[in-house]
Amino acid sequence: MAAILLDVDGVLHVSGSPIPGAPDAVKRLRADGHRVRFVTNSTTMSRAELGRQLRGMGFAIEDDELQTTGGVAARVLHGKRVLALTMPGILDDLEGLEVIGMNADAVLVGGCDESEEVGRVFSYLNLNRAFLELQAGAELYCLHKNRWWQTADGPKLDAGAFVAGLEYAANTEATVLGKPSPEYFAAALDAIDADPELAWMVGDDFEGDVIGAQRHGMRTVLVRTGKFRPDAVEEAGVQPDAIVSSIAQLPDWLERNF
Ligand SMILES: [Mg+2]
Repeated sequence: MAAILLDVDGVLHVSGSPIPGAPDAVKRLRADGHRVRFVTNSTTMSRAELGRQLRGMGFAIEDDELQTTGGVAARVLHGKRVLALTMPGILDDLEGLEVIGMNADAVLVGGCDESEEVGRVFSYLNLNRAFLELQAGAELYCLHKNRWWQTADGPKLDAGAFVAGLEYAANTEATVLGKPSPEYFAAALDAIDADPELAWMVGDDFEGDVIGAQRHGMRTVLVRTGKFRPDAVEEAGVQPDAIVSSIAQLPDWLERNF
C-alpha cells in the first residue's frame, strides 16, 4: 500500500465546492489501505477552520491529518520576533512566535485573497514596514510564493508577487516554508512514516506539487482540476508519473497500476 500526500485546494475542492466524487475517493483510498495526509499551501484559515470547512463539504478528515503552512512557520520561526504580513485567520497556527510591529528578526509574508482585509495587510504602509525591517537585517520568509491561484471566477493574483517585490527591493531571497520546499514535503512524509521513493504526491499545481515533489524524490499524479493547465505540462519539460481527470479516478488508477 502507498503513502499518499493529497493537495487540498484544486484537488479536493475549488472555492469551497467539492470536486465531484472527491469525498468518496478519499474514503476509498483509506479503505484500500493507503496512508493519506493532506498538504496545503492555503493561507486563509487556521488548520482547525480548514478541517471544519472540509468536513462540511463531506470529507472524513481529522485536523491532525492536515499540514498547513502556518504550522510549518510556527516550527521554523519558534521564539523569533516576527512581522507577519499574513491573513488574520492563520494567526491561531502561529503559536510560539512573537508577532510584533517593529524590530523583527523575521518578516513573514502569507497568502492573498481579494478581501478588504488583505488589502490592508498588503497596504503600502505594511509593505514599506517590511522593506525597512529587511533593510535592518530581518530575514524574509513566506508561506508560499505562488504566482496565482484558481477560484470559481478564474485565476487571481497570489502572494508570490508581493514576495518577489520585497526580494527585489531589499535585494534578498525569501525562504519558502510551504510547497515546493523540501522541508515541507519531508515533514508531511515524516508524519505518516513514509519514504519519498514509495510515496505519491497528488496535486493540481505543476510547479508547487509536481516539480516540488519530484525534486524530493516522490512519484507524482497531476489532476486535471483546479489550477491544471495543459500548456504548463508541455512547457515544463518534465512529466508527472500520471495525469488523471480528477481525484475521483485516483483509487481505480492506483489499483490498476500497483
Ligand atoms: Mg492546489
